[in-house]
Order: sequence, then C-alpha cells, then structure tokens
Amino acid sequence: MNKPITIALSKGRIFKDTLPLLKAAGIEPLDDPEKSRKLILDTSIDTVKLVIIRATDVPTYVQHGAADVGVAGKDVLMEHGGQGLYEMLDLKIANCKLMVAGFADRPLPKEKLRVATKFVNCARKYFAQQGRQVDIIKLYGSMELAPIVDLSDCIVDVVDTGNTLRANGLEPLEHMADISSRLIVNKASMKLKHDEIQTLLSQMKAAVDQGNG
Ligand code: AMP
Repeated sequence: MNKPITIALSKGRIFKDTLPLLKAAGIEPLDDPEKSRKLILDTSIDTVKLVIIRATDVPTYVQHGAADVGVAGKDVLMEHGGQGLYEMLDLKIANCKLMVAGFADRPLPKEKLRVATKFVNCARKYFAQQGRQVDIIKLYGSMELAPIVDLSDCIVDVVDTGNTLRANGLEPLEHMADISSRLIVNKASMKLKHDEIQTLLSQMKAAVDQGNG
C-alpha cells in the first residue's frame, strides 16, 4: 500500500513552474490555489496532498516533518540553514541570482557598510567570509527603497531581470549566488517513505532532464 505523502509548495511562480514536474509524476492538484482559499489541496493521487504555504515557511514544514517533501528556492534554503532536511534535486525553475545592489556611482564604504535585506544570514555569512564589517538591517520587503532614503548603503536581494533595481536607480554590484528551486525531503520521511519518495524523485528528475522545468 502507498504511504501518504504531503508536498509543501508556495503560490505564484514556484507553484506554476512545479506543476508540469508534478504532472510528470502523475500528480495534478484538484483545486487552483490562486482561486481557492484551501490550504490543503487534494490531488489526482489519493495518497498525495499539497500544502500551500509561504515560500519562507516551506523548509520549516519539511524540517519538522509537517510536510514530507517541499519545493523551496535556494535563497530560502540558505537563509533557513537546511537542518533536518535533504536537498535532493535541482528543479532548475525560478532561476535568479542573489546579489548585492546599490548605486553604480557611489562606491560602497570600506567600513561599517549598512546592508538592508531580508536575507540576514546569507548576507552576514557572505560579508564575514570577505572580512568586511557590516551592519545588517532586517527588512521584510521593498528593499530597493532602503538606499534611496539612506537607511542603508546597499541591499542584498534576489535579482532576475534587474528591472526592479533599475526602476529605482540601483544596479547589481556583486554576485553572491545563483538561485533555483530545489526539491527538499524531511530526513525521517526519506527513511520511512523511501519507496514513495524515490519514485516521486525519479519521475520529477526525468521531467527536469527533459527540460520541463
Ligand atoms: P526583477 O526581474 O529583477 O525585476 O525581479 C523582480 C523582483 O522579483 C525582485 O526584486 C525579486 O524580489 C523578485 N524575484 C525575481 N526572481 C525571483 C525568484 N526566482 N524567486 C523569488 N523572487 C524573485
């Protein structure tokens, strides 16, 4: 008998780009999370459920076994730290870069650089590795505003086209990491539901390799 599997996903880009990969594994949600208020979605497979949560909460649900499997951006995983979970597969979706951004014509101060970001842990680690002294200012959104109103000298954020930066007079300055979404698995689930999870992984991997991601 198939053991039940819960998959944690966030709405929006990750959900949309993960759908074809889930479909390749025979999993199709019975509701559209953009239209439904349901947080737990049934799927075409009785034993597989999707939980729809905030992107930053996905590693936490998987870490604690509230979901067996999840899809999370590498940025979110680096910020979380990855305790209690395995990063099993690069889904090659929602690609972007984690970058330091600021004003092109204003060199960053060598000392006491003020960095505004929601990626506090990533930023602290990156600047510490370079021996640079920083003050990290935690924000929850609209990071681009911080240098404009002199709250910070620069920001650390995910950048795709760079249009949002440029619209606010900012430029990417330093590349920190390439980002894409990863399939993550709870460590205990990997043992207890090995066959079900391996089947899911191999079907999704085949879809990624065929370029469905
Ligand atoms: P951009 O295309 O650089 O103007 O991106 C617009 C905004 O979307 C950025 O400020 C990011 O916050 C966000 N963004 C872009 N790509 C991603 C991604 N792959 N994952 C999460 N957020 C993203």
